[in-house]
Amino acid sequence: MPVQALYVHVPFCHAKCLYCDFDSRPCRDASAYDAYAENTVARIRRLADAGILGACATAYIGGGTPTVLGDRLVRIVSAIRDAAPHLVELTCEANPESLTGDMARALRQAGATRLSVGVQSFVDEELRALGRLHDARRALDALSCGIGAGLAVSVDLMCGTPGQTHESWRRSLRCAIESGAGHVSVYPLTIEEGTPFWARVERGELAEPDGDLQAELMEEARTTLRAAGLEPYEVASYARAGCACRHNIAYWTGVSYLGIGRSAASMLDRATYDELAGPLRLPAAADTARRVRFVQVHDAFIGSDGCADIYREELDAREAIAEDLMLGMRMTRGIGKDLLARACRVIGEHAVRTAVDEAVSRRLARWDVDTGRLVPTHDGWLLGNELYGLFWDLAR
Ligand code: SF4
Repeated sequence: MPVQALYVHVPFCHAKCLYCDFDSRPCRDASAYDAYAENTVARIRRLADAGILGACATAYIGGGTPTVLGDRLVRIVSAIRDAAPHLVELTCEANPESLTGDMARALRQAGATRLSVGVQSFVDEELRALGRLHDARRALDALSCGIGAGLAVSVDLMCGTPGQTHESWRRSLRCAIESGAGHVSVYPLTIEEGTPFWARVERGELAEPDGDLQAELMEEARTTLRAAGLEPYEVASYARAGCACRHNIAYWTGVSYLGIGRSAASMLDRATYDELAGPLRLPAAADTARRVRFVQVHDAFIGSDGCADIYREELDAREAIAEDLMLGMRMTRGIGKDLLARACRVIGEHAVRTAVDEAVSRRLARWDVDTGRLVPTHDGWLLGNELYGLFWDLAR
């Protein structure tokens, strides 16, 4: 299966949010932006010249904050469009403080189709507590810039943040719905090691997010968004009809994807890995590998020894199919009989049936009588880690 999805990482933000451990750094240096954009465009062209993006259907420029690049981001979008002629979806992540109407129109003209906006909250005090640079007014303006430019727009919201209440959460959900966005992603706040929030929790100045409250807020989001016509299609993602993110679906369905930029992750099936090993100067994979995941370690993809400088993980056949089952259960549509049949062949029918039966008996999953698929239940959605663990355990 050739590369079908491309990810480009932009490692810059105007400032660091207090909870963030993504690979992004504050930067006001225009020459660093120039160099990054130039290198990225050159790399995309090299991939195109090597025929690597010919079957690519989706692209996603994430970060970090891609919109800090200004016009340089438009050039990257154009380069991707030129390099990947069969693209059906091209998403740019954006933050409200660095998105303008002119930029949204330029991105659309260059070939972007979606904008994923890091809003997190529509309550100013909550935004300040998270260290975000925008306020609710700016967030609404950014969303209307995207929609006005003809882009499909997604809103990221975060629950369980400091000071958040049921009432303020409802306000954020209402604003997201009324903004006209066709897609909403809802994430619980997590405290990541090394972040300012982590240090505050360690010093006893900040309480850890309350898991029960987060579950209640996630539940409230599900009910409210569904009532407004945004249906869940993945554990954290809601979309109006036709607005699901194809790129994210690629991540959950075992499709080969290639990431470029420091910290960008790639996943290639064995055949594609072997095909790309020469042009990308990747190390040979072990005979048993059926899927290879790798992450670019430094700014430059190629290290001083002339080989790709990557952190790499190989999955054998059993691990790869267990991963497919686990990721499939993240999605509302669950897993089909064909995938289960393949899993039975690779792992063994008894082990797969035992895992399926346990998921059903614990009411984490059920058989959908209309589609014949195994789908997560409401409990399975709430207790996702238990459900995914059942299937991932089949890897061993
Ligand atoms: S804008 Fe996003 S990537 Fe940048 S610091 Fe904040 S959370 Fe992290």
